[in-house]
Amino acid sequence: MHHKLKISFHGAAREVGRSCFVVEAGDRVMLDCGVKLHPKGVEYPLPVKGNLDAAIISHAHLDHSGHLPHLFSSSNTLTYMTPPTLDISKLLWADTLKIADMDGLDAPFSEDEIVRTERYTFPINFGKKMDISQRSSMEFFDAGHILGAALTKLDFGGRKLMYTGDFKPNETRLHTGANLNVGKVDDLIIESCYGDRDHPPRKESERLFCEEVQNTIDRGGHAVVAAFAVGRSAEIIDVLNEYKVGADVYLDGMALKAARIYLKYANYIKKPQALKRALDRANWVLKEKNRKEALKRPSVIVTTSGMLQGGPIYYYLPKLYKDANSKIFLTGYQVADTPGRRLLETGKLVIDKHEVDVRMEVEKFDFSAHAGKSELLHAIKKWDPDNIVLVHGDEKIEEQFMADLKREGFNTVAPRLGDVLEL
Ligand SMILES: [Zn+2]
Ligand SMILES: [Zn+2]
Repeated sequence: MHHKLKISFHGAAREVGRSCFVVEAGDRVMLDCGVKLHPKGVEYPLPVKGNLDAAIISHAHLDHSGHLPHLFSSSNTLTYMTPPTLDISKLLWADTLKIADMDGLDAPFSEDEIVRTERYTFPINFGKKMDISQRSSMEFFDAGHILGAALTKLDFGGRKLMYTGDFKPNETRLHTGANLNVGKVDDLIIESCYGDRDHPPRKESERLFCEEVQNTIDRGGHAVVAAFAVGRSAEIIDVLNEYKVGADVYLDGMALKAARIYLKYANYIKKPQALKRALDRANWVLKEKNRKEALKRPSVIVTTSGMLQGGPIYYYLPKLYKDANSKIFLTGYQVADTPGRRLLETGKLVIDKHEVDVRMEVEKFDFSAHAGKSELLHAIKKWDPDNIVLVHGDEKIEEQFMADLKREGFNTVAPRLGDVLEL
């Protein structure tokens, strides 16, 4: 006889951001504990009350890991994540404290909570079954999303639940694609970021991107590539090297620290030697004078933040925004209301507190690390779940995808924030 399953939704319900769910079937387990970074501030998940038997973090992105240390201000919960997820998360948590300090704000946790989080974290690799208690167990599988990102399969006394976190079945430069060979599952909690469309073929995006970078260099401009620090920056450096773009490449910002972690966990990526060569060849911006150097002759500058919300990219943009030969390359999803999205829609950007018309070209390229619609459907059919729960998607997209899945005969729900679901 199967356990009854109860799931409560503390975030990422009909929205992208602050992923946090609690599943209960004999044991009580938290899946992810993220934040939502908003132009107006940070949104946290709804509070999780009562005892947890375990917490599981799917990957290091802040929308999945960013609020975890807060849990340790009131309890000590045994937490599972992969070793690279722990390393990258520590980097991001420390950065959260640094930014809060610079802005004169209170962070919801301190250094002490980070230390406690680490102490209570049990790092486990892909493919190692782990008992949570005598009643339930868990196992991670490669999610193909960023370094260390995991699909989590839970077994509650025979009832099998899959939580995808963010995942990418198709191959990319750094990852071979998610390992979907997890057997049949009974219940599926699945991200639905791109439940409405497919991505263009990856190789095509890479080729177009490198051609445009080369064009920018050839006309004497700077190619400023806005890239997320974790994952995307390393991938872009690798792609530029693979397609033999002829220019000096500079890497600036937190991407450098993230790159070191990528090199440390070489066995988690597809062609670590190629990435190492590409990173060795790039110029690492460690000092102010490297930045000046980068602007002396045509160059590629890969830097943060990916959605132009701050970071070292604002060293370069004030000096380049009037230069029609230079170009801004956006390489990730641009959330509504972010400066990156506004720049795409209006051609305007706030520089030194003034809104200016940007004369540089601006173009967005699809390097998504999320499953497109066909990839989602492929995974769902393979796992053949009795119940599907859609999370981590915009309201309209989740509704549309839910209707599609119901038409295919799948029992599907798209819960709202605060809902408690019993299956
Ligand atoms: Zn992610
Ligand atoms: Zn996410």
